[in-house]
Parts: sequence; C-alpha cells; structure tokens
Amino acid sequence: MKRVLITGAAGFLGSHLCDRFVNEGFFVIGMDNFITGDVSNISHLSKHPNFKFIEHDVTEFIAIEGDLDYILHFASPASPIDYLKIPIQTLKVGSLGTHNLLGLAKAKQARILIASTSEVYGDPLVHPQSEEYYGNVSTIGPRGVYDEAKRFQESITMAYHRFHGLETRIVRIFNTYGPRMRLNDGRVIPAFMGQALRGEDLTVFGDGLQTRSFCYVDDQVEGIYRLLFSDYVYPVNIGNPDEITILEFTKEIIKLTGTNQKIVFKELPIDDPLQRQPDISLAKKVLDWEPQIGRSEGMKRTFEYFKSLSKEKLYKREH
Ligand code: NAD
Ligand code: UDP
Repeated sequence: MKRVLITGAAGFLGSHLCDRFVNEGFFVIGMDNFITGDVSNISHLSKHPNFKFIEHDVTEFIAIEGDLDYILHFASPASPIDYLKIPIQTLKVGSLGTHNLLGLAKAKQARILIASTSEVYGDPLVHPQSEEYYGNVSTIGPRGVYDEAKRFQESITMAYHRFHGLETRIVRIFNTYGPRMRLNDGRVIPAFMGQALRGEDLTVFGDGLQTRSFCYVDDQVEGIYRLLFSDYVYPVNIGNPDEITILEFTKEIIKLTGTNQKIVFKELPIDDPLQRQPDISLAKKVLDWEPQIGRSEGMKRTFEYFKSLSKEKLYKREH
C-alpha cells in the first residue's frame, strides 16, 4: 500500500485531499497544527484503518516512521485576513515548513507536491495569467507575507529538484471553494454566505469591480491528483477560468440565498488584486484536465454545507 503524507490535513483543501487519497486506496498520514484548521473536517476519518493523524507544526523538525511515497504540502494560512493576523507563521510555514518537507521527501525518496497560489502573480498586469508570467508582487505590502512565502516555496522546491534530483510538482491554485471552508475565515464566499445566513448586509470591498474566477473543490482535487501522477515538473495553474466581478457575484449570492439584505461598500484592502483569471491551457495539455462543475452548481452545494452548520459556528466571531 502506497503511503502519502498530507500537511494542512484539517483544513479545507487538505481534508478533501485526505478523502480522495483514502478512497483511492492509499495509507494517508494527515498532519496539522489546527492554526486555521478544524478537527471536524477529518473526524469522519479518525477510525479509518488507512488514516492516521499527527498533530504537529511543520515549521518544527518532522519525524515520520516508515516509508513515504508521496508528500502533499498544503499547510499554510490561505485567507487574507488569516495571514494578516499571523504574518510570521505564514512566512515560516512557506519557508521553514517547506524546507522541512523537502528534506523529509529527500530522506524518504518520496515525490512531493507543493501548494502554490495565483498570488505569486500578485496584482497581475497580464490577463489572464499564464504560468509564464512572473507576477507583480509588493514584497513589503501586507499580503507580501503570503505571496513571497509562496514564491520562495516555489524557488526552494525547484532547487531541490535541480540540485538533489528530487521528484517535485508545483500547483498554482486559483480561488477554490466548497464545503469545509471555515465560515469565518473572511474569504469572500464564506463571508457572503455567512452574512446571508445571519441576516447581515453583504460587504463588498472597494467598488466591487475587481474580478475573481472560482473553482469548485472537486475539480481542484482532480487537477492536483492528476498533476501528482504526471511527469510535469514546472508550475501548473489549476482553477476555473469563469471570471466574474465581485459585485456581479454578490447578486448571484443574493439570488441563491434569498436574502433581503442590501449590499454595503467597504474599503478595498491594500494590494487586493484587481483582476484574476487562470489561463489553463497548460493543465489541459499536460493533465488533460479542465473544470467540470459550474459556479451555480458549486455554489448550491456550498450553501447547503453552510446551512447545515451549528448556530455556534455561524455566530462565532474571529476577526
Ligand atoms: P485552510 O486554512 O483551510 O487550511 C490550511 C491548513 O494548514 C489548516 O488546517 C492549518 O491549521 C494548517 N496549518 C497552517 N500552518 C501550519 C503549520 N505550521 N503546521 C501544520 N499545519 C499548519 O486553507 P486552504 O484553503 O485549505 O489552503 C490549503 C493550501 O492551499 C494552502 O497552502 C494555501 O496557500 C493553498 N491555496 C488555497 C487556495 C484556495 O482558494 N483555497 C488558493 C491558493 C492556494
Ligand atoms: N471581498 C469582498 N467582501 C468580503 C470579502 C472579500 O468584497 O467580505 C473581496 C476581496 O476584496 C477580493 C475578493 O472578494 O477582491 C476575493 O477575496 P478573498 O478573500 O476570497 O480572496 P483573494 O482572492 O483576495 O485572495
């Protein structure tokens, strides 16, 4: 049985990856320190014979008994308000944490896939963003702690590949959503759905004309799975190119949730990218992958999930 270590296992994407790999017949070791994760995302796996959980901060030395065939490094705060609240941990998990995991992969002769992000393109001057674009990131801006950690992560991963011959893969993830996102993590989809469920006004930042392109989690997991088992070493964008302005998106949310609340405009956060849309030609070519689940279906499934959460989670204030 092949063994895979998944970091960030109690988070949104990590927990879905644990499910996928357990279902595909792997032995999965999930690792997390719960800094932005939630044990309820993996509690259904706790008694599974092919799943083991280790509570650990990946910025500290990582010891794993036995062989490892694959590592997926997904530990990192991912929401702007999370990484603004814990900037040093964000820098450390992308740098020291990645270094530890690359060292572990080298020791175990495992293939490692690193979760990078569309944020390596910063506030992009090229649209849509293809993997060839080098990006437009403010190193010293508040979002720099995340963007630069991820850029460093890509560099050190390529260095381990070139210098040590390690088998590496890099996925550049564009805005992905679905069940198990934290209701209060501040990202736009949980934020709007939480506001609709609590009967609060929907907060649009800036004039709402900034764009995003939202990918449903099952599509993202499929892209990551295919990338891991492909031969492609350089970064690959995985996301859904269906682009929408935040203001238009708010109107879709109002329709879906049936809320009578109004839209209120708030200040645009510093360095909030004005446009974002993945060019997925490379993923189509090397992975034969493209998203299958449209926004209306994906949002319906996600809203069902948020509706099912307890009142305690709905009204929990974090920020
Ligand atoms: P998330 O916050 O739900 O999950 C991240 C998990 O990592 C959490 O469970 C957290 O507790 C854990 N973690 C953080 N620091 C850790 C540490 N030092 N040691 C151990 N565990 C730690 O976020 P997510 O959306 O699931 O994102 C997962 C990964 O995907 C991140 O690396 C993120 O940068 C990347 N990503 C996500 C998106 C997206 O749209 N969801 C977009 C781009 C990149
Ligand atoms: N946003 C918003 N209202 C909110 C939360 C976010 O208008 O309550 C905007 C945010 O300014 C950004 C977009 O929605 O332009 C997506 O934000 P998110 O935090 O989900 O992720 P990002 O793509 O910025 O990393």
